[in-house]
Amino acid sequence: MEKDSRTVGILGGGQLGRMLVEAAHRLNIKTVILDAPNSPAKQINALHPHVDGSFSEPAAIRKLAAECDILTVEIEHVDTQILQELEEAGTVEVQPSWKTIRVIQDKYLQKEHLTQHGVSTAPSVPLTDRTPAGLEYIGQQFSYPFMLKARTLAYDGRGNHVVASAEAVPAALEALTSGALYAEKWVPFVKELAVMVVRKKDGSVVSYPTVETVHEENICKLVYAPARVGQKVQDAARRLAEKAVGCLWGAGVFGVEMFLLPDGSLMINEIAPRPHNSGHYTIEACPTSQYEAHIRAITDLPLPAHSTGLSTPSTNAIMLNLLGPRYLTVAHAALSTKGATVHLYGKGAAKPARKMGHITLLAGSMAEAVYQIQPLIDLADGVTP
Ligand code: ATP
Ligand code: MG
Ligand code: MG
Repeated sequence: MEKDSRTVGILGGGQLGRMLVEAAHRLNIKTVILDAPNSPAKQINALHPHVDGSFSEPAAIRKLAAECDILTVEIEHVDTQILQELEEAGTVEVQPSWKTIRVIQDKYLQKEHLTQHGVSTAPSVPLTDRTPAGLEYIGQQFSYPFMLKARTLAYDGRGNHVVASAEAVPAALEALTSGALYAEKWVPFVKELAVMVVRKKDGSVVSYPTVETVHEENICKLVYAPARVGQKVQDAARRLAEKAVGCLWGAGVFGVEMFLLPDGSLMINEIAPRPHNSGHYTIEACPTSQYEAHIRAITDLPLPAHSTGLSTPSTNAIMLNLLGPRYLTVAHAALSTKGATVHLYGKGAAKPARKMGHITLLAGSMAEAVYQIQPLIDLADGVTP
């Protein structure tokens, strides 16, 4: 291990990249980051010449590849053409495969791929006729409300628009003006669940526990681990997530977002080919974090099944995202909160809804965790000053 001389290049240097760097360095695996100067991941890694530029820029990706043995991503919105070229030329290994990143980065192609492999997702159609009549036709098929979504470059709900009625059709077309769109049937979910799945180089998969995610205005706010649902649903969610990741290519960790329907059935919302916000809790709550699991998977190091479970039978965790201008107030209070760990990302301006950090709170029961975290949620919501 101490002799590991491999270098991993990471496309993207945000908070996920930053936490990947921490995990890699504990294993003596070097990391080089491609992103803007002083991005969060670069701030904690001064050992290597990083590449300044964009993960969607072929020349910058080429420069990164020249420094590395393996390329990986902390964001899916990267140029996959150049990744394919570099891998086919034998310049660098790409994990997970560029094929996986390419199919996932177009949310409609992703849904089509999952459906073809027998994995249940929300019924979706590409928007070929981008006119009010085209959208109204979809409204007649799907009924209202339905979701209009950007096929590419979407995150934190940017790129999603709820079409509430036929009257709301013109406003929907005005809200989403750039890039190709697709429509998705409305899913009347009772809860949102997520599972982190690790895919090893041999194609085998292991999963972390099923967690419950709570979104506010399309942005993940809270994660409860384990999910507050029965064991049967937890097990079914893990099986569905493993099946979904099983039909992709290459190694790494995957964040699988799911809907739990009123009849107890499950449907995939979307998959991220990288560490995910819903897996932050694994740093404190599991023997091996999602970040270390990703590094181990892409470098073909062992990852025994017990390393991805909760550390003890009584481990319960709640993760609270620190969003926007109030993040330091909440972080400060968390320093005095029993069981809480504070993570700050080293980002610049705390614009509204920007992810500035997170808190993971551990407790011996979920009731205790809920009790301990409530004052921090009240602070985040501005209920208390
Ligand atoms: P992320 O930041 O996770 O990449 P995103 O911008 O890709 O998010 P989605 O995951 O597509 O957006 O949707 C964001 C949220 O909107 C979901 O977590 C869910 O709460 C809601 N949502 C999405 N699709 C539907 C749907 N078809 N029906 C009902 N609600 C939906
Ligand atoms: Mg998404
Ligand atoms: Mg999502």
